[in-house]
Amino acid sequence: MDATNPTRTHTSWQRQLAEAVRAPHELLARLQLPKESLPVTAAEATRGFPTLVPHSFLERMEPGNRYDPLLLQVLPAAAEAEHVGGFTSDPVGDSSARAAAGLLHKYHGRALLITTGTCAVHCRYCFRREYPYHEEPRRMSDWEPALQQISEDESITEVILSGGDPLILSDERLQTLCRRIDQIDHIERLRIHTRLPIVLPARVTSELIAILKSLRCQPVVVVHANHGNEIAADCETALRTIVRDGIPVLNQAVLLRNVNDSAEALESLSRRLVNVGVMPYYLHQLDRVHGAAHFEVPDARARELMSEIRSRLPGYAMPQLVREIPGESSKMPLLHDTTRHRSAGGS
Ligand SMILES: *Cc1c(COP(=O)(O)O)cnc(C)c1O
Ligand code: SF4
Repeated sequence: MDATNPTRTHTSWQRQLAEAVRAPHELLARLQLPKESLPVTAAEATRGFPTLVPHSFLERMEPGNRYDPLLLQVLPAAAEAEHVGGFTSDPVGDSSARAAAGLLHKYHGRALLITTGTCAVHCRYCFRREYPYHEEPRRMSDWEPALQQISEDESITEVILSGGDPLILSDERLQTLCRRIDQIDHIERLRIHTRLPIVLPARVTSELIAILKSLRCQPVVVVHANHGNEIAADCETALRTIVRDGIPVLNQAVLLRNVNDSAEALESLSRRLVNVGVMPYYLHQLDRVHGAAHFEVPDARARELMSEIRSRLPGYAMPQLVREIPGESSKMPLLHDTTRHRSAGGS
């Protein structure tokens, strides 16, 4: 047995990933949109972070709609080439939180592993779009320094598998990594940050659930959906499968201009999530990564949206509006306005 070279038995989700759309012009053609919807400069600007969209996600977009909220998340834009002050390649201070190869340690009690640089979709606003993934572990043996450090630090009670997307790993690799973490006595919870149950629901197999349920520690799954249209029937089934197997599922979303910056969009996202048993967790203010400035929503508008949806949703369907500030001891809540009157000028 060699963990670095597992036998390649391609399951249906792996085939779907191989068949994903990898060219912007193909994305447009599939949606019956004219080629001109994509400026040449957009394709050029985004060579380092190419288009990647699985068909399962593409099928949820409205043909002929250039402004479809799902399409806007994945279609390269000319604006990505713009240099905007304050937008950098490492907006959240990942490089200074790197405690060992593949290990980020920012917050008390929680350690995060960069398990892979690969995802099933490329989100244009991704805060790790310029992360140096090539420096991170690939083989199981490369994980030893990180695992050693976690073993030696009893204050760490939760390990988060992140990336990229940890569910891109084969079941064999995922199981090996999860079991290694599970053997560390002081680890109480294993959290998985993944967009696959949303964009490639076929990844949620009974084998995957069995791996998570076989652990001593409590698994927690945190998915990432930004718009109600993402919660299509196949995605609902996948989410319900995890929830009904007794694994808590939370959602984090990113507030994105023209995608979900309306009370209607946010309300509908929350409702569709709670209707399948997924609890809204965070609504993130955009991390200011180079190339994503055109997605930013001002804080004042973000707070206003939160008060609007608060008056429409049950309390448990409310995400926490947060922003990550490098060096802070947690994600920082953006508290809503307590005053009702609007002022025209900034002060
Ligand atoms: C966001 C993040 C976490 C998790 O924070 P929670 O508030 O517990 O969700 C942990 N580690 C790192 C490095 C993070 O960026
Ligand atoms: S799935 Fe997550 S890590 Fe991957 S591109 Fe999208 S936001 Fe980034």
